[in-house]
Amino acid sequence: MRYSDNVVELIGNTPLVRLRSVTEGIAATVLAKVEYFNPGGSVKDRIALRMVEEAEKAGLLQPGGTIVEPTSGNTGVGLALVAQLKGYRCVFVCPDKVSEDKQNVLRAYGAEVVVCPTNVAPEDPRSYYNVSDRLAQEIPGAWKPNQYSNPANTRSHYETTGPEIWEQTAGRITHFVAGIGSGGTISGIGRYLKEASEGRVRIVGADPEGSVYSGGTGRPYLVEGVGEDFWPENYDRTVCDEIVEVSDKESFDLTRRLAREEGLLVGGSCGMAVVAALDVARRAGPDDIVVVLLPDGGRGYLSKIFNDEWMARYGFLETGGAEATVAEAL
Ligand code: PMP
Repeated sequence: MRYSDNVVELIGNTPLVRLRSVTEGIAATVLAKVEYFNPGGSVKDRIALRMVEEAEKAGLLQPGGTIVEPTSGNTGVGLALVAQLKGYRCVFVCPDKVSEDKQNVLRAYGAEVVVCPTNVAPEDPRSYYNVSDRLAQEIPGAWKPNQYSNPANTRSHYETTGPEIWEQTAGRITHFVAGIGSGGTISGIGRYLKEASEGRVRIVGADPEGSVYSGGTGRPYLVEGVGEDFWPENYDRTVCDEIVEVSDKESFDLTRRLAREEGLLVGGSCGMAVVAALDVARRAGPDDIVVVLLPDGGRGYLSKIFNDEWMARYGFLETGGAEATVAEAL
């Protein structure tokens, strides 16, 4: 018999697949690291596991403890499935703009979801930042992972994702491309690949127009999970050799092409990262190997990126102008 004892054992060791259609006319090889193969459906399973294990070691999380985090998405799913196995309670706090479907995914995994009003200032006691802080203080045995500053986030990529990519490419990788949210992915993998290749691998960040990493001021954009309006502790500002700025329209067009042409139903930050990877690959040579990380699957975006009406509303289809502004969507 060949089986895993539990789903947490299935985290990591994701496949690398060559992009063969969207790369038409490009000589370099472009390989996608497909993170939706993780059991919770995203790259965040890796950091959830590592953050929980380190909190246990440090005595911050004890049997019967509660994980409290302001999250509505992938990190919540990862934490919920690790918590299940280890017997912790999960309380996630999210603003009411988060779709009911996303809240229900977290509840389906057994987490409790506390919904807060979106339209209040961050300093308002009802804001989701303040509510999660308060719950973390009030619930006995509560622990807040905080993926933006927790070093276990970056470390999980330095110790697992980076070495996987190095081994899968037999050390032949020449460029690594990823989006930047908390910064954990690019900082951990980037540092590992720089060390393993003695500085030869070029690290390229992909960033939505408007985000601070590409020099923006926090102007709103619709691609989810990447870009910030502040500098998280987990982002190592020395790791990127280059940052490529990508628009929402370019990100979403390529996300749709990945589903239609490559059989990869993935999220908008994946399309964004591939836009940057193709830009890099066009400038690279035929012997170059460009690896791009795809953080999650596309099922959570069916009513947005894969919905023509939604795409048309913001002017992302060729058929007409925008009827709504990005600010109205947020
Ligand atoms: N894409 C998606 C969909 C995400 O949820 C995240 C995490 N916020 C990222 C990309 C960026 O990863 P990281 O936080 O490691 O920079």
